[in-house]
Amino acid sequence: MALDPPTMLAISTALAAAAALYLAVEWRSIRESSLLIWSAGFATITVGSTLALLRMSGLLLIGIWFANGLLVMAHWFFLLGVARFTQARLSRAWYLIFVAWLALLLLPDEPSWSKIMLLANSLLIALLSFRASLLLRPHGKSLSVGAVQLRYVLLVHGLFYLVKAITAVVPGTLIDLASLRGEIIQISLVEGVMAIMLIALSMTGTERYQRERRIAHLAERDPLTALYNRRALEQRAVRLLGEVSTARPGALLLIDIDNFKLVNDLYGHTAGDRLLVALSEMIRSVVPEGALAARLGGDEFVILLSHASSERIVALGNALRDQFHGTASQTFATPEAVTLSIGANLFDQPPASLAALIEQGDVALYESKRGGRNRIRLVDGTLARGEALRAR
Ligand code: GH3
Ligand code: MG
Repeated sequence: MALDPPTMLAISTALAAAAALYLAVEWRSIRESSLLIWSAGFATITVGSTLALLRMSGLLLIGIWFANGLLVMAHWFFLLGVARFTQARLSRAWYLIFVAWLALLLLPDEPSWSKIMLLANSLLIALLSFRASLLLRPHGKSLSVGAVQLRYVLLVHGLFYLVKAITAVVPGTLIDLASLRGEIIQISLVEGVMAIMLIALSMTGTERYQRERRIAHLAERDPLTALYNRRALEQRAVRLLGEVSTARPGALLLIDIDNFKLVNDLYGHTAGDRLLVALSEMIRSVVPEGALAARLGGDEFVILLSHASSERIVALGNALRDQFHGTASQTFATPEAVTLSIGANLFDQPPASLAALIEQGDVALYESKRGGRNRIRLVDGTLARGEALRAR
């Protein structure tokens, strides 16, 4: 089979249609608007490459100017989709690209017409591809494999079109858009087929990876406070607990709000929720690097520390208690103080399980509650006698 220009255009049409369909189906399950915008881009290419065949029948305005305009528009869709994906704002100036394309209608019908058309078309596509590629550069946070791939595919695609624009202005280059003759056009048709496949594949990878990460993130978080939930804590605690030794004792702090029901009863459940969120933010701010914090449920939170000592536990627990008491007493007037009770355990041997450790913490917490609330009860398991040290 000869890969003549009409055959290549037919392959591009089929591939672009398949990519448009595939991205639209992906959108049905993933529901990310960038997928739909990219799908629109490929649908535009499908129409554009079909119309491009009309130039063979002498319909130059539709077959060249309009068809190539659709190719520019498709890249504009790609840029828009990338902007949506990266949550970047696109300047309105990008709409001027369409004005520039309309202005080409004023070109006089002379021998250089094909060259100027190709030059303008290539420069605009290069510009749109470079901008999209630039938007995908990492902004502090790491990019997914798919996004990195898309970034480089768009960069190479943009470079290709830049080279195409430069060759168009080299004197003597044969460019005949009407009959699709000239080496640049031949190479461009091959590049087009490859670009459609690579761009579409990276686009699907980009969104899938991001969605999987989002789902994984949601699955391990408490929905109200965004702290880890119990399941995530269990998974993440394994390493921290395994590293515990006499040189590196670990600690668990079990935290429960005192008289929290009063806030719910007197000020409503939403006010109670706000206080839970405020406490989670305080916990986040005091927890050192390498430690884990989670909401076990209700008004119960846990902090797991490595490199712990009784002084560090008491300092951290008291800082949290003071901060919380200040906020709760300023925000809610209650017949009984809304404060924090903490049960803590210091240990230098890896515990049997996190559940066993939490059970020990529960005992200490219960003692703290029984002792009058608003206090920390620390059981130092690193001392042979398991001597208890009462703070405050
Ligand atoms: P204590 O001093 O003995 O700890 O009593 P308490 O009033 O703090 O109540 P307790 O810890 O026994 O129970 C926690 C209460 O927290 C029970 C429930 O009404 C409330 N609660 C549990 N989950 C939520 C939540 O997500 N939002 C709100 N607003 N309240 C919750
Ligand atoms: Mg409570």
